[in-house]
Amino acid sequence: MPATIIAGAQWGDEGKGRVVDLMAAEADMVIRCQGGPNAGHTVVNDRGRFILHSVPSGIFSPRARCVIGAGTVVNPAGLVAEMAGLGDAGVDPERLLISERAHLILPYHRLFDRLEEVRLGSKRIGSTGQGIAPAYSDKAARCGIRAGDLLDPTAFRRRLAEVLEWKNRVLTSLYDHPPIAAEEVLAEVEPAAAFLAPFIGDTVGPVHEALTTGKRLLLEGQLGVMRDLDWGAYPFVTSSSPTPAGMAAGAGVPPQHVDRIIGVVKAYTTAVGAGPFPTELTGPEGDRLRERGGEYGATTGRPRRCGWFDAVAVAWAARVAGFTELALTKVDVLDGEARIPVCVGYRDGDREIASPPATALMDRVQPVYEEFPGWEGPTSAARTVAALPRAARAYIAEVERRSGVPITLVSVGPERESAIPWASGPEHGR
Ligand code: GDP
Repeated sequence: MPATIIAGAQWGDEGKGRVVDLMAAEADMVIRCQGGPNAGHTVVNDRGRFILHSVPSGIFSPRARCVIGAGTVVNPAGLVAEMAGLGDAGVDPERLLISERAHLILPYHRLFDRLEEVRLGSKRIGSTGQGIAPAYSDKAARCGIRAGDLLDPTAFRRRLAEVLEWKNRVLTSLYDHPPIAAEEVLAEVEPAAAFLAPFIGDTVGPVHEALTTGKRLLLEGQLGVMRDLDWGAYPFVTSSSPTPAGMAAGAGVPPQHVDRIIGVVKAYTTAVGAGPFPTELTGPEGDRLRERGGEYGATTGRPRRCGWFDAVAVAWAARVAGFTELALTKVDVLDGEARIPVCVGYRDGDREIASPPATALMDRVQPVYEEFPGWEGPTSAARTVAALPRAARAYIAEVERRSGVPITLVSVGPERESAIPWASGPEHGR
């Protein structure tokens, strides 16, 4: 039975968690494919409001097996705390399976992350300091330690000693920082390992079985295409691949099993951290979107940068990702805007730029806007397309046309029932 991918179509924080939560009721397995606990997925449902860092958003569905895939990086102590928090709220984390191949974020990764941002000074990437990039760097440099290693304490200690020997050379000579003792790492990791051990194992067997026995799989992405290591605004990217192809690889799901690829897209744009953001609004309009949209990092509380919808970036993401449909979130945040500009092109002086440039030019491009009339609102009470103001329907139809991908879901609030099925048709636009 096929798998559905739910991926971010912008810079992240598009509302993927709420879309997964909505669809998880029908799913037998929900897989986190890539990324680490730097971004939080917010889910609001009948049990309360939750911010999930590593646990898949399907954890609230009693029937869904939840898998943390091989392409992720996991902070053992952080995951224990997250599971304990869910347990306290009456959510059973027993259905969780952690890939033995997922890489670990260890205390020295967080230390290196912070030291590197200090070294970079004004040129810092805006890392959340969670150790994601150093953990992925170690994975690529073949000196990572994986979840499966936690199951063999002797081998873990041996491997840690080898890795620390090198890490401490870098720490003392490059960063002028005292060395880290293995015991320091073990003090944090060993209690977590004891708790997590029953959840760690092979995921290929269960995933394959699910795929071949008519089960429904959901693949949950982290961040969005503009933060992809290959296709995003490098170097202001994450250290994994949030495109559907990267997600399938991280989940261990062969691509031919994927039949739906849902791109989650916000009705405007936000970004966390540094890097190019052509439609950013630095004045009162941006402040208004931030306040109305509650645009503060789910994990860090950092204010998100806000701007108008960037159709150039989304159309580009759609091409790279192969979205078969879009879920448009946070339409309600635009309620009351008198006019809503949409970025339909980039320009550098007189030159038109068709897609996000791979070079420093991306920093300089100017957005070309088309303006659309706003609506009074509120849209948040709407439960059908017909209940949306005419101008809102026209705006949604325009986003769809400019993105080049059919919208199938429109969301006007964070709650489950605020998601409205949308089917393109002349009655929805203009
Ligand atoms: P994710 O990482 O892509 O899951 O996104 P985040 O959880 O970081 O951010 C999305 C935020 O928007 C969360 O606080 C959601 O509860 C909220 N949200 C999602 N859809 C809507 C919507 O349609 N309207 C409003 N007002 N909030 C929404």
